[in-house]
Amino acid sequence: MEPFRGVFTQQEPIPEEAISAAVEVLRGGRLHRYNTVAGEIGAAAELERAYAEFQRTRYCLACSSGGYALSIALRAAGVANGDPVLTNAFTLAPVPGAIAAVGARSIFVEITKDLVLDLEDLDRKIEDSGAKILLLSSMRGHLCDMDALADLLQAKGVSLIEDCAHTMGAEWKGRLSGNFGLAGCFSTQTYKHLNSGEGGLLTSDDPAFMARAILLSGSYMLYERHGAAPPAEYFETVRLETPNMSGRMDNLRASILLPQLAALPANIRRWNQRYDLITKVLSGVPGITVPHRPKEETYVGSSIQFARPGIDAEEALRFVSANKKLGVELKWFGDRNPVAFTSNHHSWQYAEPQHLPVTDSILSGLFDMRIPLSFSLEDCRHIAEIIAHTANETLVSSV
Ligand SMILES: *Cc1c(COP(=O)(O)O)cnc(C)c1O
Repeated sequence: MEPFRGVFTQQEPIPEEAISAAVEVLRGGRLHRYNTVAGEIGAAAELERAYAEFQRTRYCLACSSGGYALSIALRAAGVANGDPVLTNAFTLAPVPGAIAAVGARSIFVEITKDLVLDLEDLDRKIEDSGAKILLLSSMRGHLCDMDALADLLQAKGVSLIEDCAHTMGAEWKGRLSGNFGLAGCFSTQTYKHLNSGEGGLLTSDDPAFMARAILLSGSYMLYERHGAAPPAEYFETVRLETPNMSGRMDNLRASILLPQLAALPANIRRWNQRYDLITKVLSGVPGITVPHRPKEETYVGSSIQFARPGIDAEEALRFVSANKKLGVELKWFGDRNPVAFTSNHHSWQYAEPQHLPVTDSILSGLFDMRIPLSFSLEDCRHIAEIIAHTANETLVSSV
């Protein structure tokens, strides 16, 4: 088997148009979002306008990171010290981190083998915990049945904030991920769907919520310089009682995101070509299962997950290392030892320890791989063949 020589952390270059826009901001020297000359709309405000339009929401706030967007969304939604917040047991560390940032308590909800929130466990845990809010993490781009979720939450009086770090541009029956509850939170960190190094976007249709979020983000009394903010009257009552928790986006980062946003629909198609090709090969490999994608879902295949049911820890590590030798970087979510970006609830020791047997069992056989757009379709075929080859070589003893 010929090894693969591509680099899994290599992104595509920032488009030339974005580089020119960034150079223009640098030449002007007005990098701070409120540093504008008369009549000028800064890039951060322009990005908020453009993203609200893309997302089909009334309001948008550009801020410093996806994790920051999550934490101010929770705070603006009224979550206070000691409150329980429901969230997926399978997610990335910034999610329980955002809950901890507002002094709240994570209540982890089990996932299904299709890697989405288990609505039965959610129902149970709403009752047990009395939580009034769900921070839904559509982890690795998998959407749960959003209609059933919305019905359940409505019946129980629970509000919804969506973590859309992997679902920017994804839809459920034509409705964009992020638009199912009070707010959607997005990340423009390098490994997500738009790349400004770090960055976050928060969207909502609720004017009172968005006024609080904008003030929290550190708008001083300059909130009228936002690109997609509610009318001034919504700020009047809360502007003196809302703390400033500086986490603004600057014009430099916004300037490089604007041209990328215009290219997002085309990039989603490119991701899905790669995702579908790899999925097709892996679906035919004995002992490998890929999560089912419901027909209501329009996904963005920026990463791929697959399971090897029955694999034990030693075999999983052997499988990861056999791939690594052939140049393919798989992440294994079942590892008790957190590695790089990958950790699971056992290592989030600032949260109360919780018993999550279903999620643990799923994660113990779950593998994950990034699909950078710098890889060609040929590269993707090669990678899929290496995974198929190593899966054949490292057999699972219990099946
Ligand atoms: C990346 C990510 C975030 C937010 O990340 P930042 O690095 O803070 O922008 C939130 N949730 C998930 C699932 C993520 O992968």
